[in-house]
Amino acid sequence: MGWDFSTDPQWAAQLAWVDDFVRSECEPVDLLVKESHDLNDPVRQALIPPLQRIVKERGLWATHLGPHLGGPGYGQLKLALLNEILGRSECAPIVFGSQAPDSGNSEILAQYGTPELKERYLEPLLDNRIVSCFSMTEPQGGADPKVFTTAAVQDGDSWIINGEKWFSSFASMASFLIVMAVTDPEAPPYERHSMFVVPGGTPGINVLRDVGLGYQPLGGGGREGYVRYENVRVPADHMLGPRGGAFVVAQTRLGGGRIHHAMRTVGLVRRIFDMLCERAVSRHTQGQMLGDKQLVQEMIADSWMEIEAFRLLTLQTAWKIDQHNDYQAVRADISAVKAMMQKVLHDVSARALQLHGSLGTTHEMPFVQHLVESFVLGLADGPTEVHKTVLARLLLKKYKPAADLFPSEHLLRLRDAAEQKFAKQLAGIARS
Ligand SMILES: Cc1cc2nc3c(=O)[nH]c(=O)nc-3n(C[C@H](O)[C@H](O)[C@H](O)COP(=O)(O)OP(=O)(O)OC[C@H]3O[C@@H](n4cnc5c(N)ncnc54)[C@H](O)[C@@H]3O)c2cc1C
Repeated sequence: MGWDFSTDPQWAAQLAWVDDFVRSECEPVDLLVKESHDLNDPVRQALIPPLQRIVKERGLWATHLGPHLGGPGYGQLKLALLNEILGRSECAPIVFGSQAPDSGNSEILAQYGTPELKERYLEPLLDNRIVSCFSMTEPQGGADPKVFTTAAVQDGDSWIINGEKWFSSFASMASFLIVMAVTDPEAPPYERHSMFVVPGGTPGINVLRDVGLGYQPLGGGGREGYVRYENVRVPADHMLGPRGGAFVVAQTRLGGGRIHHAMRTVGLVRRIFDMLCERAVSRHTQGQMLGDKQLVQEMIADSWMEIEAFRLLTLQTAWKIDQHNDYQAVRADISAVKAMMQKVLHDVSARALQLHGSLGTTHEMPFVQHLVESFVLGLADGPTEVHKTVLARLLLKKYKPAADLFPSEHLLRLRDAAEQKFAKQLAGIARS
């Protein structure tokens, strides 16, 4: 029976190198580069490509790629442990060639793109010479694709796309966008949409504005494109996958991505936990260290238990993916991990903010950003509520209704069954 929580020594040595590299090289860069995806920012270009070269030389570039894309095929458990370290730093994923949404978009292109599209976009994307965008959510709703109205109409050898998309991250700087559009309005809801590659700069792509998150200043720093597609014409061979197959294509990008995200969250939350504990042993009030107060001790204990439980569930899910090699078989586990992610980051950063007092609320500490990020985790790739619903439905599928009015574990029923089972042995024994 295998039941082993140790990491193989060779991988452990790689992880030790990554840990040191991320702390000493990537974390300082986070403080100087405004947007690690922005290839036109000279500060970014001065600091990130040299780190990328070191990662490539070390053989750790784009390790999420399967062997079909020239990747090492490490499996999800090893990648989970790697991503845990990358989660400490905002720019580490791009330094290691595994940043969203490019990682998922490259999977889609590799699986569904024509040889010409792959040549034009896949290689430079894998090399981080270009940036891409995934354009699916619409202003009137994201969690329910049935409300999407952006449509593509065939015109000879082309498709013409019209509609609006919301939160198309990096739309302004993307060399290509993967756009979901209704092509078959009369088909069943999940067969109505097709997926298209839209080259950046195609006439009719209008980025109305780049929306920023709550901690960013109004009118600057945003990267969530509010995009209007107006008579955007793309050649017919820019459709990815079969007509009406957009949802199947979209699934391609989720794969191990959610597990990588979860482990990055573990790495980030552990960093926040360290800040929480440092504060608890640094600050004194009413003649006592904060960490000597029982309510503060509860914060520390709860945080540690939540982080470790989340980490173990995520690692176990990664291990199960490697065992089954089938994401459907671990759908429930993946939804559980996805739903927990938001709560762990939220609760631990809220406690860290609280213990840092007024300083915790400022832009001189990262907690406000982390709190907003916890909500981002609870929205992108499906809201927490939807994942909890999926999990519950899958769990309930394994259960049957009780045979009659009383539960199958009703103690009277169980005792009667036990009496019958041991009737021979108990015959003649006096019982009170
Ligand atoms: C930082 C960030 C980056 C993003 N990047 C992209 C991107 O690159 N491309 C892209 O296409 N999209 C992107 N998104 C959009 C994301 O996918 C959507 O936010 C998400 O699908 C939810 O859609 P919505 O925001 O319209 O919320 P709505 O669909 O309006 O839902 C609002 C809330 O309603 C509740 N809710 C929804 N459905 C249910 C349900 N079934 N049961 C119970 N409650 C429910 C949840 O609380 C949910 O948060 C990004 C989002 C964020 C925050």
